[in-house]
Amino acid sequence: MEKLLNFIDGTYREPVNQQYLDNYEPATGKIYSLIPDSDEKDVALAVEAAEKAFPVWSKMPIEERSAILVRVSEGIQKRMDEFVAAESRDNGKPVSLASHVDIPRAVSNFHFFATAILHFASESHVMEGEGFNYTTRKAIGIVGCISPWNLPLYLFSWKIAPALAAGNCVIAKPSEVTPYTAYLLGKVCEEAGMPAGVLNIIHGLGASVGDAIVKHPKIKAISFTGGTKTGEYIARTAAPMFKKLSLELGGKNPNIIFDDCDFNVMLSTTMRSSFANQGQICLCGSRIFIQRGIYDKFKDAFVERVKDLTVSFPTDPKAKMGALVSLPHLEKVMSYIELAKEEGGTVLTGGGRIFPEGHENGYYLQPTVIEGLKYDCRTNQEEIFGPVVTLTPFDTEEEVLEMANSTQYGLSATIWTNDLKRAHRVADEVHAGIVWINAWLVRDLRTPFGGVKSSGVGREGGWEALRFFTEAKNIFVKY
Ligand code: NAD
Repeated sequence: MEKLLNFIDGTYREPVNQQYLDNYEPATGKIYSLIPDSDEKDVALAVEAAEKAFPVWSKMPIEERSAILVRVSEGIQKRMDEFVAAESRDNGKPVSLASHVDIPRAVSNFHFFATAILHFASESHVMEGEGFNYTTRKAIGIVGCISPWNLPLYLFSWKIAPALAAGNCVIAKPSEVTPYTAYLLGKVCEEAGMPAGVLNIIHGLGASVGDAIVKHPKIKAISFTGGTKTGEYIARTAAPMFKKLSLELGGKNPNIIFDDCDFNVMLSTTMRSSFANQGQICLCGSRIFIQRGIYDKFKDAFVERVKDLTVSFPTDPKAKMGALVSLPHLEKVMSYIELAKEEGGTVLTGGGRIFPEGHENGYYLQPTVIEGLKYDCRTNQEEIFGPVVTLTPFDTEEEVLEMANSTQYGLSATIWTNDLKRAHRVADEVHAGIVWINAWLVRDLRTPFGGVKSSGVGREGGWEALRFFTEAKNIFVKY
């Protein structure tokens, strides 16, 4: 059985305690590799290495640092097939998705921040007749990056790239559920000529490695993406140590469809925003609100399309949806389908497991559409994070805003209408950090990314990320 290793101080190493965890393949339900069950001792070694590396990395000419990160981006691109196969096997997502979305985006993340840092400049503010201020932004030091399993390398690199570009040394922990592409990244960094200790990748459980990263006094900032409950724990733990925190948490995003929208474009995009990555994207629109005039038309057309969606093993070229990430997650999602029935919902299609031939023990679930639920029931308030959507009719803008804004979350929202004024009004009023009008998941890496309410604190992307990973210092000079 293959054993993955930690990447500390530029070398692959076994965990100090020599303990390993099983890594399951969602497509088959079988264990296919072992990952280090690391703990605070490995984190301590990584911090020592990062401390040694920081003066070299943070003072390196910016062009050199940028060139190394460009080479990391190119290194992932060169090993595209290896990364794609690993991501899809580890996560259960179709190979086509990993090759079109996940890995190309990891390539872009490194390239984007490697070049963005070349344009990140100090500010100066003149006070007429008095003097002037200049504000420097320097690397913080050692930072922690903790990421989830749904878009493994995509989200891992989305944090690591700006942290490194800004001159920090990083202690990074991928999800224990999907460790493989993060494991491969160490090799790419070595080949790119990154100095030892600049990026350290430690595998293991959140409660041991994650917790040790959050609690380590020399790790000055934490960038975390994951569940709201975990985020709450991290915030509580880090607050007394005055660590800088960026928290990208859960969502329960509304997809608001007005009856004047461009129906066909809306319908095919709604298929993606509901079921892409088996519905396991924090930005998926799991609550679909449809204006009453087109409710039945939408319901019929949508359900027909959903019934046709091919769920199969990730290497099947016909697969539009693969396996859910783990058995506990599959069970959690299925428990919400049961809850929806108890709450009075009608399952229009889906609701059950699928057993593709040769992959009978994999974690496959039918895409599921439910109607007839109140907007404030648990099914419509809690994050399910799977291929399950609810349909709710509405009459007026005010009514749909009240329903859309009723959850504790506020990550993203999608609005479908051809009425320009209404689009802007609703976009302005909806509780969300990210709004798409007549589109979904169109991403410009320069824009702020993050949520309001229980969906998080802070923003990633563009200058926001580079500001997060630096400390500003203002210096005043008297004329
Ligand atoms: P999770 O919170 O269980 O785990 C996320 C990461 O945190 C993992 O690496 C895990 O090991 C680690 N972790 C767990 N407990 C920890 C602790 N006590 N201290 C430190 N680290 C700990 O989340 P998940 O199940 O991996 O991911 C799904 C969640 O992520 C969903 O809620 C989803 O909405 C959210 N998510 C949010 C975004 C966003 O950008 N807002 C993007 C993707 C996923």
